[in-house]
Amino acid sequence: MNNPIILIFGVILLWIISKTVIQIIQTQKHLTEDDLFNLMRNKLNKYGPEHSRIIHHLGGCEKCQKRLEEYSQRDDI
Ligand SMILES: [Zn+2]
Repeated sequence: MNNPIILIFGVILLWIISKTVIQIIQTQKHLTEDDLFNLMRNKLNKYGPEHSRIIHHLGGCEKCQKRLEEYSQRDDI
């Protein structure tokens, strides 16, 4: 079988799947010091992908919520 439409459809499907998987992995990755710093200093574009990734992660990760709390109590930054 040599149908180009199926081939194109397959490529698009693969692209969508890999994009979704990458997004899930990035959301599950713990936030870095830089992420927390940027969030606290409002250095992130509120409509950008970084901001929504951080907010999404914080929404579901107690560990990073605690880190943000501890981080915001430090006065050396
Ligand atoms: Zn986390």
